[in-house]
Amino acid sequence: MLRIAVQSKGRLHDDTMSLLRESDIKVSESKRTLLVRARNFPIETLFLRDDDIPATVADGVADVGIVGLNELEEKGANAEIIRHLGFGACRLSLALPKDETYNDPTWFEGKTIATSYPAILRRWLKSQGINATIHVISGSVEISTGVGLADAIFDIVSSGSTLVTNNLREVETIMHSDAVLIANKQLDAEKRAVLEEMLFRFDAIKNAETKKYVLLNAPQNKVEAITALLPGVKSPTVMPLAESGWCSIHTVIDEERFWEIIGKLKAEGAQGILVMDIEKIIV
Ligand code: ATP
Ligand code: MG
Repeated sequence: MLRIAVQSKGRLHDDTMSLLRESDIKVSESKRTLLVRARNFPIETLFLRDDDIPATVADGVADVGIVGLNELEEKGANAEIIRHLGFGACRLSLALPKDETYNDPTWFEGKTIATSYPAILRRWLKSQGINATIHVISGSVEISTGVGLADAIFDIVSSGSTLVTNNLREVETIMHSDAVLIANKQLDAEKRAVLEEMLFRFDAIKNAETKKYVLLNAPQNKVEAITALLPGVKSPTVMPLAESGWCSIHTVIDEERFWEIIGKLKAEGAQGILVMDIEKIIV
């Protein structure tokens, strides 16, 4: 049995639960109890505040966990990063009232900075040789300058709209973060095996995320020209159609690549192009 710590609510909760669901690991959320066993996989889910996840995994109370890299860095917990999961992307930045003149980090000398991430900020200030006062608050950091609590803030930014709303301007980005799967460093063989199985499923989903399954019809004499445009997983499948002189070509390509080549495919005579989502890819 592998115990996985996940955020009980908040920004990472839904994406984490979707990843488990897509991996066919069925955890019922309805009970909202602290510890829930999956119905069809040797995993139990421990629902926690994100602040508690790094230490819980480092101590071995949970074997693995899903948490923001920022939270892991802040807590300095001794856990192994197994995968970057891609969701929950954000950055940790310093921001000032928008009318302040800012040239370089010396601006912060002697200033007061409000944050929920004092450890990361302290490390950065030290690396810059700057002395500043850190004012730790656990929420609504963005209003600190407006109410005279601090000269600047150090906080999570994703779109930047919260900063704009509060008349703030981002001046330094200190770190980028996304959700990471972390593990205790001393998992036994049985737990490692369950983790490997879970990773196999996570990876299959991640591999499929940016890929599309593409089907198209092509005149027989254009098959070579069209397949030359299509980078497949191995090589495209080409099948004859009932109508003579026509083929159906199937392949898997990066969505981004698809938009680049669609015009060329049509110019070579491709017709009836179908583009479909892929759930999982096992490579
Ligand atoms: P908890 O109640 O579990 O302590 P929290 O309020 O501390 O939750 P959330 O706001 O739910 O934390 O954010 C959890 C994580 O989501 C952050 O640590 C960060 O890694 C990530 N995240 C991604 N985008 C954002 C964003 N725009 N604002 C805040 N966090 C974000
Ligand atoms: Mg928290």
